[in-house]
Amino acid sequence: MPVEWAKPLPHPTALSQPFWDGTRQRELRLQRCTACATYRFPPLVLCRNCLSEDHEWVPTTGIGTLYSYVIQHRPATPAFIEDLPYVVAIVELDEGPLMLTNIVDCPFDDLNVGMRVAVTYVDASSDITLYPFTPAG
Ligand code: ZN
Repeated sequence: MPVEWAKPLPHPTALSQPFWDGTRQRELRLQRCTACATYRFPPLVLCRNCLSEDHEWVPTTGIGTLYSYVIQHRPATPAFIEDLPYVVAIVELDEGPLMLTNIVDCPFDDLNVGMRVAVTYVDASSDITLYPFTPAG
């Protein structure tokens, strides 16, 4: 774990804390509606499919497909300058939801929409474990 993480970090809420508890335990968890089984991400109070508030937190495979990406050459904030260039991506999890993330440990020439990717974990602080993806298998 880095001694000091100088980049901005997420601020979990009561709604999202179970997600961050999951990444800390190396598990990518999603809300799943107990009325209609639709997965939710990001965490929501109501199901987008049936409007039920009822849900459970369930582990996912952590596997998905690269849906879209950009190679970032300008940082979102100066805190990311040392990382340039880096990949900002949307991954479609096998469970359905789209997830904004990064792709790491992948040469840019190997990036392809539709490629299989798997979650990996990076401890950024004592509370936050980030969830970049990397080529699967
Ligand atoms: Zn539902």
